[in-house]
Amino acid sequence: MKVGVLSLQGDVREHVSALIACAINPVEVRRPSELAQVDALVLPGGESTTIAQLSEIFGLYQPIKDRIAAGMPVYGSCAGMILLADSILDAKQGQKTFGGLDITVRRNAFGRQVDSFESDIEFSDGSPDLIRAVFIRAPWVEKIGPNVQVLATVDNHPVAVRSAALLATSFHPELTHDHRIHRYFIEEVARPALEKVK
Ligand code: GLN
Repeated sequence: MKVGVLSLQGDVREHVSALIACAINPVEVRRPSELAQVDALVLPGGESTTIAQLSEIFGLYQPIKDRIAAGMPVYGSCAGMILLADSILDAKQGQKTFGGLDITVRRNAFGRQVDSFESDIEFSDGSPDLIRAVFIRAPWVEKIGPNVQVLATVDNHPVAVRSAALLATSFHPELTHDHRIHRYFIEEVARPALEKVK
């Protein structure tokens, strides 16, 4: 399976390392020809408005949107979650997303005092072990569509969600040494979705 990391802005290197730890040799995606080589994509944490704008400048906005609509598996962390969301609250004026995930997210939802924090939370992948979740000016999910599954919450707000081949977390597993979420994306989300279309 070829997995790309959208490499326009944000914590690309950390996602690349996490994927390598999961025995994937990732492709850094900066141009449409690189996107065309990958079966699945990771949208990193960073600044969602900047990533969206750069994707337009690099001719990747529409191709990514089209691939998502065609069923490409995608994992987005933090800014990546915002980029997957069909709608955003507290968006910058004119802010665009790739969309595809039937959720409404609120940007910078955890408020100023707790801009950044870490917490050990449950993640519904069948393991009873808690996962270290790093939140940095993180969004949370305010509304979910009928086909969206909530995999983790903080104070009753969904912070990890999944729908078909799309996975999104408000937090940054790429900043920890626990690669469980990346492994979950590869083995439980992307691989089964790609097997289905073969
Ligand atoms: N607040 C950022 C945004 O709106 C996301 C922060 C992050 O990815 N750590 O894009």
